[in-house]
This record gives sequence, structure tokens and C-alpha cells, in this order.
Amino acid sequence: MPDLRHTDIQYLHGVGPKRAELLRKELGISTYYDLLYYFPFRYIDRSVINHVNELTGDETAIQLKGRFLTFTTAGEGRKRRLQALFTDGTGTIEVVWFNRVASIQKSYNTTTQYLLFGKPSLFNNHLNIVHPEVDTVTTENVAQGLTGVYNLTEVLRNRSFTSRAIQKLIATLLDTPAVLHIDETLPPEMMQRYRLMPLTDALRNIHLPTDQHSLQRAQLRLKFEELFFLELNILHYIKGSSRRLVGHVFSRVGAYFHDFYNNILQFPLTGAQKRVIREMRADMGSGKQMNRLLQGDVGSGKTIVAFMTALIALDNGYQACIMAPTEILAGQHLETIRPLAEAIGVKVALLTGSTRKRERDVIHEALMSGELQILIGTHALIEDTVQFRNLGLAIIDEQHRFGVAQRARLWSKNRTAPPHVLVMTATPIPRTLAMTVYGDLDVSIIDELPPSRKPVTTVLRHEPDRFKMYQFVGSQLREGRQAYIVYPLIEENEKLDLHALEQGFEQVREVFPHYRVAMVHGRMKPAEKDHQMMLFASGQAHILVATTVIEVGVNVPNASVMVIEDAERFGLSQLHQLRGRVGRGADQSYCILMARSDLGRDTRHRLQVMTQTNDGFVVAEEDMKLRGPGDMEGTQQSGIAFNLHIANLAQDGQIIQMARNAAEDYLGEDPKLESVWGRKMAAHIREIFDKQQNWGLIS
Ligand code: ADP
Ligand code: MG
Repeated sequence: MPDLRHTDIQYLHGVGPKRAELLRKELGISTYYDLLYYFPFRYIDRSVINHVNELTGDETAIQLKGRFLTFTTAGEGRKRRLQALFTDGTGTIEVVWFNRVASIQKSYNTTTQYLLFGKPSLFNNHLNIVHPEVDTVTTENVAQGLTGVYNLTEVLRNRSFTSRAIQKLIATLLDTPAVLHIDETLPPEMMQRYRLMPLTDALRNIHLPTDQHSLQRAQLRLKFEELFFLELNILHYIKGSSRRLVGHVFSRVGAYFHDFYNNILQFPLTGAQKRVIREMRADMGSGKQMNRLLQGDVGSGKTIVAFMTALIALDNGYQACIMAPTEILAGQHLETIRPLAEAIGVKVALLTGSTRKRERDVIHEALMSGELQILIGTHALIEDTVQFRNLGLAIIDEQHRFGVAQRARLWSKNRTAPPHVLVMTATPIPRTLAMTVYGDLDVSIIDELPPSRKPVTTVLRHEPDRFKMYQFVGSQLREGRQAYIVYPLIEENEKLDLHALEQGFEQVREVFPHYRVAMVHGRMKPAEKDHQMMLFASGQAHILVATTVIEVGVNVPNASVMVIEDAERFGLSQLHQLRGRVGRGADQSYCILMARSDLGRDTRHRLQVMTQTNDGFVVAEEDMKLRGPGDMEGTQQSGIAFNLHIANLAQDGQIIQMARNAAEDYLGEDPKLESVWGRKMAAHIREIFDKQQNWGLIS
């Protein structure tokens, strides 16, 4: 039997070399397998016929039954087009073609009944349909019911390669012996346990569904399969026991930890903080190297958790390091951690690109002797000259700026076993997605804020409310609080954006003549920027007008208002990060999103998410639904390629969980994939992932 993956599409009845070339170029389809897995991107019910007089122009797809009244050509040369008037008895609608004018005019007439299928749009206040599919009315196609719609390119459409043409080829393909007898890829017990539709049936129903129910079962089966192999691959090859490195065993929690916990720590840990510390203790005591991602919203208290984890390393005679993406952040960590460390007699130092040579030498020496126990710094930490006596734990803050390869460089810091690795991020992503995209990391989540924190009240306001907004800001200033006013600044639009910022600055100064207003933006000289920041941080300035440079690293607990101008131009996760700048004290804080009044639906929805929740995970989930997981911060560098055929990491959380469980259960029974099914599935994984897998070997 011909192998689907290696049979050239040109041999399929109805294709041939020319169309094969088109399919390959336009859709990347070069084999039987590619075509078989080219799934419809949506389905329409062809048994429903719409009426012209009921159309609004908002429909995504409609079907009309009737006849053409007239054909006229208009325009010259490249602008030449064919316009027809079509009626179904309830009204008329214009139909337009921009290509193949002559041949189309020849193929249709004004006496035959046709089915028109396409998307109506509103153009100059009247409805039209551009490039519809046109069919003559037959009993067969009127009764057809649920029909898949395939993504096409303009080139294909111009060569009359319609969605229906693709469907015909697939119908032919489905009847070839290779597809009729395609091998089931999942073991029978799994099929039964999860009540999955057999592969042959699923492939047929995904293309030619018999009804809605069968279509749903087909989709579930195919999504499950895709995610199951993804999870099996992650669990077995990437973090499976065969690849897990031996790690230092931190068997005890000792004097440093207890001293800090009992005598220095000023507040009770939240339940979530305790839980993640326990999770890490278990990891570091297991004999395997820890690779853990710690997610927690802004202000959830990750720093203390990181510090206490480092103390466990110290208690077992090892050193720890904390790496941050910028000098500012590294400096802030030092400021937070040094007093805590010194209180229990732990030595800490800071190493960044701007550390002087003399100081650097001292640090190098103290690291080698073991006298220096915790090193905080930037990328400078992974330079080859930095050698530890015995690095036991590496903590990386803000994961998304460090790639897998950079993490791997930490391994070489130790001659014996690699250090345990804790990656921290404040850009939370849903757990199922995290488990999948950070395939090589275990995930811990701090999902609880310290009790002192009040949620930030967030509102959406428009230009007519501006005066009221200023009044509100004024009332907070009178209470002795401070306010941020943030403007967007993007490179493509830099001049205009800077202008808006400066105008805003002038306006704010006029509105608040009795308060001091500071301003920072990325184009300022560093010294001036620092000075302006300092004015605000010290309380000398009451209002800070700024671009997003304040997004990371500023901590002014007295600030209680965050005004975000042109809020519609920010992404959700950015808005959430900005909002995290207020609400740092115990008092109520406010975030005011100023936006245009005429917002599109998606944009309004995005801003409303902000007004409805303070939960970073909910924000992240919404962000992901709106943007798709491939665009999420942090996912690109994580290494997982997002070329899934049918599953959607943003929307199929439940199926991911199911697939994850199935993969875990299977590996529990057959950990080395040695059984007949195990070997079969291992081969399948190689086939799917081989091209993408190399990154997994870096670490
Ligand atoms: P993150 O790094 O997760 O954004 P931080 O570690 O900077 O958050 O903590 C934010 C603030 O909350 C800090 O001032 C910290 O001291 C405080 N904090 C942390 N944990 C607790 C807790 N359990 N109870 C009260 N305050 C806490
Ligand atoms: Mg932090």
C-alpha cells in the first residue's frame, strides 16, 4: 500500500503535475498526507438558504438561491471588473468579480437558477458579494447540509480552485485504499477509555461531516491525538526519566532557613507561597535536577520565595545566584535581599556589566572560596570568567528574556552536577499552556496575593470624561497620593507619540499648577531620566507623565492612580503590567483607561477585561484567546513550534489536560515505550517531531 506521507499529490485522480505545483506552492500540500490533514477552517450549513431582504452585511457566510438579472463590465485595464445583479425574489444584490471577467461572463447566464455562496459586505451603503462561489441548483447540492470551507489563496481562486474543488479532491482521496485502511495511531484501551472516534471515521467526518454530532466527535478525536503526541513527546523525550539529569540532593532545611523564617520574616507567608516552597523542596531533595517555572502575578511575593529557596541551597552547603534581565532589576533585587541576608549573616554581592574590575576581582575570588554565598546580577553572571565554588541553585527572573541556550550555559558553572534551576515570571500564562510550551519545566503557581493588597479599581473612560478624570486625580493628590499618566510610544510612530506625550505634559501642568510634574521617556539622556524618576520616587514630584519605560522596575507605594492614555493601543498583558505599578500600598488604588469612544468590538472587549478582573491569569487567558498563543510573550522562545493542524492551545485547555493525563498514564505502564504500541507510537513521534526536536537537545 502506498505510504501517505511519501505519495506525491500529483498522482491523485484529478490533480496532475500542474495542479500539484499550485497546491504545493500555494498551500504547502505536496503529499497525500498533507491534503488529508488540510482541514476545513470552518463549516457552513448548506441546507440553509438566506434571503436578500434579510441580510445585514455582518454575516460571515451566506447562501442565496436565484438568478442573475444583468451583467455589466466597468473600469479599464487592471481595474476592469464584472458586475452582476442577482435576485432571489426578495430583493437584489450586486455581485462583483475583479478577475477573469470574460470567462465568467461566458459561463453564467440570466435564465438558469444558481446557488451563490459567499460573504456579503457593505460597500458605499449597499450590499454586495465579491467573488462568490456559483453553482447550478441540483437536488444534491441543495440538500448537502454541513460543508467544510477550506482556506484558499487569491492565486488559487483565480485559477478556479474553489473550496468545493478542494473538497472534491479530498473526497477522492478518502476513497483510496491507503486512506480507507489507514492505521489507527492510538492504542485500543485509550480509544475506549476516552471514547474516541476511530481515525478513519474521524478523517472522513472532519472533511465530509454527516452531521454536527459526528463533526464534533471527529474534531475531538483529532485534537486529542495531536495533543496526546505532543504531551507524550514532552514527557518522554524532553523531561522523561531518560533525559533527567542527576542533581544535587538538598536533603535538609537548616539554620539559615529557620533563622530567617522564625526571626526575620515580618509577615506570614500566603498559602500559595508555602505550597510552592514545598514543591521546590521536594524537587531539590529528589536527586534529580530541578527545572521549575514559578509564575506569580505582579506583587504576589516571588522575591521572598526565591530568597528562601536560596537559603535551602545554602543550608546544604551550596551557593545560589539570581539573574535579572536589566541592571535596574538586579539592583532592586539586591536592595530587597541584602538587608534580609545580612540579618542572618549571609554574604551577598551584585555583579553587572558596569561592575568595576577591582570589585569584580574581589567577587571572583570570594565566589571561588565560597565566602560569597549569593550572587545577584545580569547576563554578566553567565560569562565564562565567573566560576563558583559550588553553585547549587540558579534563579532566573523574568524568564522570557533568557532562552533555553542561555539557561544551559549555567550548567557549565559547576564541574560536578548542574545547579537546580528556578525560573520566575510575572507574565502568567495558563497552566495547561505553560506545561506545554515550557515543556522542559515543571510549573509552580502563586495564585494568591498577600492579604494586605486591595484589588485596583479599573475603569474605562473616553474623551468627554477627561475633565472629570483630572478632577479625580486632583482629589487623590489632595490626599497626599501620587499619580502616573502613561502614554504609548512605538517606534513607527515615535515623532507623533512624543509630541502627544509633551502636549499631555503641558496640559497636566496647566490643570495642576500647584503640583510638581515629572516626565520620563526613552529618548531622554539617562542622567535626566534618573533625575526625573528620582523626583517622583522621593515624592518631590506628584505626577509622573511617562511612556512605558516605567513598566518594569518602579516601586512607588504611595502612587494610587494610574492613568493610561490611548489605552486601546496597548496589549492586555502590557496594561496589566502597568496597572501593577499601583496598588502596592495598603490603600485603595485606581487605574483609569482613557480610550477613543468609537472602539471596535475586540478592542472594547479587551479593555473591558481589564475593568472586570485583577487576576493576571484571567487577563493572560483572555489575551491568549484574542491574540492566539503564538503571540504570547514568552512562548516564541520556548521552542515549541506552533504548527498544530487542528488543536488550539488557547482554546482547548480541557483537551490538553486529557491528553496530558493519557500520556502520563501510558508512560506509567510503558515508561520506555517498549511494548508493541509503545514502539509504534515512538516511531510516530519521530515522524511528527523530528524536524522540530533539535532544540530539546540543547539542555
Ligand atoms: P513580585 O516579585 O512577585 O512582584 P514581590 O516579591 O516584590 O512581588 O512582593 C511584593 C511586596 O509584597 C513586597 O513588598 C513584599 O515584601 C511583600 N510581600 C511578599 N509576601 C508577602 C506576604 N506573605 N505578606 C505580606 N506582604 C508580602
Ligand atoms: Mg519581582
